[in-house]
Amino acid sequence: MLKSLLDMLGNRPEQHNSIFLLARWTFVVAFAATLCPAATALRSTHFALYSGGLTAKQAESSLSRLELLRAALIELHGDSWVPSAPVTIFVPASEKQWHRLAGNSAEQGYFRSGSRRHWIVVNPMAPFFDDVLSHEYVHAVLHQALPNLPTWFEEGICEYYSTLELEHKSGKSELLLGRPPTRRLRQLRGVMQIELAALSRARLDVDSYALAWAATYVLWPSWQPGQDFPARIPVGPFPLRRRPSLLSPRTTELHALPAVAVREIEAALAASFPLLALPAADNAEQEFLSGSRLLDSGQPAAALALLESACRQRPSQSTWWLTLAFAYRELGRLSDARQTIERARSTAVNQTERDAAGALANSLGPP
Ligand SMILES: [Zn+2]
Repeated sequence: MLKSLLDMLGNRPEQHNSIFLLARWTFVVAFAATLCPAATALRSTHFALYSGGLTAKQAESSLSRLELLRAALIELHGDSWVPSAPVTIFVPASEKQWHRLAGNSAEQGYFRSGSRRHWIVVNPMAPFFDDVLSHEYVHAVLHQALPNLPTWFEEGICEYYSTLELEHKSGKSELLLGRPPTRRLRQLRGVMQIELAALSRARLDVDSYALAWAATYVLWPSWQPGQDFPARIPVGPFPLRRRPSLLSPRTTELHALPAVAVREIEAALAASFPLLALPAADNAEQEFLSGSRLLDSGQPAAALALLESACRQRPSQSTWWLTLAFAYRELGRLSDARQTIERARSTAVNQTERDAAGALANSLGPP
């Protein structure tokens, strides 16, 4: 059963940090000696940010920006317009470190999906940093809400919302939409119309991003899934669009991530971005694997200390708690098993993990 549980969950070193809502944000965590001499590691209500290349003030403004964008997209499109897993923002320590990860030199940011954690990686030196960050966040949302869009259209929608703003005047709020991204406008000079067939064949470069934005401005948000696209789209003018909003400008509450959560992010970074060649943050992984092997070969007593230690080091790993609970069950320690299943439940980030915790709880019978 253990093996099938682990197979089902996928034993991936990806993490979730929602249980670490501990310290109020008052200082920058200077940690992460392996990755950068002083990293900024913060979280807001829905995002974690790990950066060697941003000042605390920039990190703060980026997280506020993402919280606003998240709330605005839900207000505009409903509750399904959220990413399918928690999003961690990683800003490399330097442009040089960014180029080790970037696919091409024109790229300023990218989104990478995962089953337990999505990553947004942004060049610390990106001009229009918050626009790039916002663009990548919209990829995270579309990945869940509108998969399978033509690439130009997906990029266009990301550009469209990258400039979203909230205006609050005399007690009333409005969302301002459709502001041309500053970094794209120059490419549109002199362009009268866009051939969509040509755009869908084009390589993504500065010109095609600008065209994708301009075409999307015309089609979005009235376009519906399954609807055909016109052959040609006229370019501009682009008046600002205003939508009444119930959102109010408020300061985002930020928290410093405690050391254990920072280590979890570093371990996930090392696993997700081998190109960074980061040294292992600790031996939690090794202990978990050795413990699982012992458990699998019918030695729960020998496995226990290893699994307990691994879980202490990576307390947001639902799968690991579940494995420890399984060991307690094998040893007849049912009350410990139940408590540990609760840890697995509270750290689960998807339905598979919640179901697995439920299945193990059921196997224990009533308390
Ligand atoms: Zn993009």
